[in-house]
Amino acid sequence: MKQQRRHTHEVRVGNVAIGGGQPVRVQSMTNTDTADVAATVAQIIALAEAGSELVRITVDREEAARAVPHIVEQVRAAGCEVPVIGDFHYNGHILLRDHPDCAAALDKYRINPGNVGFGAKQDGNFAAIIDIALKHGKPVRIGANWGSMDKALLNELMEANARREQPKEAREVMHDALVESCLRSAARAEELGMAADRIILSAKTSEVPDLLAVYRQLAARCDYALHLGLTEAGMGDAGIIASSAALAVLLEQGIGDTIRVSITPMPGEARTREVMVAQQVLQALGLRAFMPDVIACPGCGRTTSSRFQELARDIGQWLAAKTPEWRRRYPGFEQLQVAVMGCIVNGPGESKHADIGISLPGTGEAPAAPVFVDGRKVATLRGDDLADQFRAMVEEYVARRWGCNAAEGK
Ligand code: SF4
Repeated sequence: MKQQRRHTHEVRVGNVAIGGGQPVRVQSMTNTDTADVAATVAQIIALAEAGSELVRITVDREEAARAVPHIVEQVRAAGCEVPVIGDFHYNGHILLRDHPDCAAALDKYRINPGNVGFGAKQDGNFAAIIDIALKHGKPVRIGANWGSMDKALLNELMEANARREQPKEAREVMHDALVESCLRSAARAEELGMAADRIILSAKTSEVPDLLAVYRQLAARCDYALHLGLTEAGMGDAGIIASSAALAVLLEQGIGDTIRVSITPMPGEARTREVMVAQQVLQALGLRAFMPDVIACPGCGRTTSSRFQELARDIGQWLAAKTPEWRRRYPGFEQLQVAVMGCIVNGPGESKHADIGISLPGTGEAPAAPVFVDGRKVATLRGDDLADQFRAMVEEYVARRWGCNAAEGK
């Protein structure tokens, strides 16, 4: 069942629409030096090919700003239309002013209200960026961050809290400050002429409970499109689990229009990992389908052979390898569910619920593997080439069920 999405404005970023009932979009960020044009172009394309629907690059200095138009030109020349977003801190107003080609080439600017200056300068610098965005017709993301909170605003709220009869906990005031920083900046952007459907908000924290509290408050107080993500989530499994926990709770409540999984790659790990994780979170919640599901039982003492584990792994890898081609040939096939089960206890049942499923023999069972298609037993496989036979059946099923979609789309 689809979750009820929270109503938000729809924001167009390049050729991608975010919010307003659109599917939750996956985005990512490069970790190359933006001044290195070749490396940044290669990584943007790799992220887009992995399924990132928007890609952000840091624009931190003159050399990076000068590189941006060349990066976007080369990405487009390679046939990649993914929107490219510039991430600005401290000097965004200067870089965007001094490099109009950079300002024109980017599809959106990310501004951190905690990092645009202090006092009177803060308002002037923020207004300068909004002015440039308006001139170039670009949307903005106002992205507050726990690690770079607006200190003046935090002090103001802390002092007001101290005067309350029943002061809030300091952490709650920090939540309020993060939310208030976003909302005041968005209100200021609107005063300066930016339409609400050109503004996306984010307020990232590094702890899951803080993120939940902040986003629930943001969602209750505005209808801007929201960018979700835990910042500095961490490395490996810990980062993936923390991000997934936070995103799942909020997305299930209909909160969040675009997501990024900010995991630190393990040494040598591809940057595209964050895209795969974001896709898997959305797929697990039933919000989007990016790749077929392989349902496999965990195994237990009833199956002492590793055969079904190997088959589940091989089928998963084979489907992942086939996905780019099959997306073109068999539109909609991402919804495919394949079951690979270890014995008769749950094997036939799970296999019947999947589109196509196989139940391998457990210890002591006859050496035969029944296959179920759309809930009906259609074959019993035997022999050493059982994996090949099953793959052929899966391919035949996919072609029969989704092949006509490609013909209709021609
Ligand atoms: S299906 Fe069979 S092998 Fe798999 S977990 Fe259940 S009882 Fe164990």
